Amino acid sequence: MNYPDFIFTDGSTLPVGTMYCIGKNYAAHAREMGGDIPSDPLVFIKPPAAFVADGGSVRIPTFSQNPHHEVELVVVIGQDCANISKAEALSVVAGYAVGIDMTLRDIQTKAKEHGEPWSVSKGFVTSAPVSVVVPAARVTLGGGSEPVFDLQLHVNDKLRQFGSTSHMERSITTMIEYLSSVFTLRRGDCIFTGTPEGVAKVSSGDILRAELNGDFSETVVLQVEIA
Ligand code: MG
Repeated sequence: MNYPDFIFTDGSTLPVGTMYCIGKNYAAHAREMGGDIPSDPLVFIKPPAAFVADGGSVRIPTFSQNPHHEVELVVVIGQDCANISKAEALSVVAGYAVGIDMTLRDIQTKAKEHGEPWSVSKGFVTSAPVSVVVPAARVTLGGGSEPVFDLQLHVNDKLRQFGSTSHMERSITTMIEYLSSVFTLRRGDCIFTGTPEGVAKVSSGDILRAELNGDFSETVVLQVEIA
């Protein structure tokens, strides 16, 4: 088996590690899921085999009838680190990308009802498409303490989700501080930072196109097909 790499826009690569994901990080999405912002960060994990590069396919397991898209900013970690303070947090970021946290909503709902883990609904193979990565050095701070990004998701050319990371309940530096204290972080790990509202079902043959804009020159595009 080939182990996947993140591909940076400058041509460098980094082996994909653990993918930490933050749930309910936008108030409007937490509401559409029928809940509030959790008082402690809601964290789940996707394994490296869940990774799909731009141009790839997402394979929905046959036991799910309700797969959903969740477009998210992905923060790629560039060095092994533990107990990072908010002030140091941006210095461990290798780059930024856009990803789609593919979710088997029916399986997740059943797990929630039974108090069971989300690993199957969130971590199945091909559940984590991620774009090329913009090196952190190419991203400027637009006047704030951390960079701000705009996210968009089109399904078959119809706009389904859009949002700004300025609306995240927990900031990039807060997430890095928290995750590095609980798990430690390793070079090649990444963080899916939560989705804005508008999540919906996808079907076989759908083309998903995610876009990331921000304080850097290019627009990053991620396109995948639902197999
Ligand atoms: Mg998500």
